[in-house]
Amino acid sequence: MERYTVFTKTKVINNTLAVKENIIRWLSDNQIILLKPNEGESLHYAGSRYTDIVEEDWSGEVEFITQKRELRHVLNWDLGVDFFLPDRVVCPKCQKDLIKDIDPATFYGEDNKQQDPNEIKFISELAKGISAWNSGKEVSLNCHNCKRKTLIENYDYDNSLIFTNFAIIFWNWPELNDKFKNEFKQKLGEDILIETL
Ligand SMILES: [Zn+2]
Repeated sequence: MERYTVFTKTKVINNTLAVKENIIRWLSDNQIILLKPNEGESLHYAGSRYTDIVEEDWSGEVEFITQKRELRHVLNWDLGVDFFLPDRVVCPKCQKDLIKDIDPATFYGEDNKQQDPNEIKFISELAKGISAWNSGKEVSLNCHNCKRKTLIENYDYDNSLIFTNFAIIFWNWPELNDKFKNEFKQKLGEDILIETL
């Protein structure tokens, strides 16, 4: 199983390439990663001082994502999960949680309670929408409560889905120390989520 720590913006941002260059420069100046990527443009090997950010004597690679991605699903697809239920999906126009009554056990096939057909239909559109968004399309979903349309990335998922165009993934590293995580977080600015899996 892959393990990773991801630093992700929780929104789509402007100037992704400039932000990426800035971070690469900072990490390579500190010899955490090598300045030049290997095998393409997005993956960097560790630099000679990677032990400044981990306790152990091994390291993995660092990948930069600068295209639109629904990150949880992209990362979890690697772990063999097609779609999983977000914590909530709140319409920004009417403030209703559009999956409030979905029973997770039933959703995952471990029970068979009666489900609200409107909520089930919405989840199926959300799952299709995520695939389309990940392939670069603009996607809107209709709210089944107020009937209004909203871009998929503008619903409120309470960070249980992350629609972004900027993330940095530390693949197969030992746990990164808190000092580094905090410095990195400050460097990346607001709306950052750090997650280790
Ligand atoms: Zn609504």
